[in-house]
Amino acid sequence: MRRVWLTPEAAESIARHAKAAFPHECCGVLLGDAAGDVREVVAVENVSPTPETAFVMDAAGLARVLGGLGRRGQVLVGFYHSHPRTPAIPSGRDIAEAHYPDAVQVIVSLRGQAPEVMAWRIAAGAVERVPLLIQASRPEDDRQTEPDRLTRQQRIVTVLGGVVAALLVIGVALSLLPPPPVIQ
Ligand SMILES: [Zn+2]
Repeated sequence: MRRVWLTPEAAESIARHAKAAFPHECCGVLLGDAAGDVREVVAVENVSPTPETAFVMDAAGLARVLGGLGRRGQVLVGFYHSHPRTPAIPSGRDIAEAHYPDAVQVIVSLRGQAPEVMAWRIAAGAVERVPLLIQASRPEDDRQTEPDRLTRQQRIVTVLGGVVAALLVIGVALSLLPPPPVIQ
């Protein structure tokens, strides 16, 4: 997924969870579809022995959520957790302990006046920011979810390609014709 979409309500529920858990980190799972549309935010208990600076998702809680994915007709979009006092960027530990390279890691920071939310992809130690859209309606950005729809440009190229091919065929056919009879 090239971006993540959260409704304002979903973003608010993540922020609410972060505030309720303060000064501990909170954590949870983001469910939705492969385009990165988050349809459901599910809180999971943080069982880290040092919850002020780390999170460990309760294994049984996480297994329950992931086990129910097929039944819900959803995919795992990613995970979220909070940083009570630090920016919404992955910590060294977040990078070292990210084991789902395809999942998006959403981090909410409470260090400022308002919660700050950012999304990341962490794969094999490399960190990449993922565009995060918080808006009420689904962004009409990507063709990713509609692979059959050609862009206008692709359509023009396809049509031009057909025209060029037809002209070539006509040209070759004409060149293969026997020479016109000579009238004497
Ligand atoms: Zn973190």
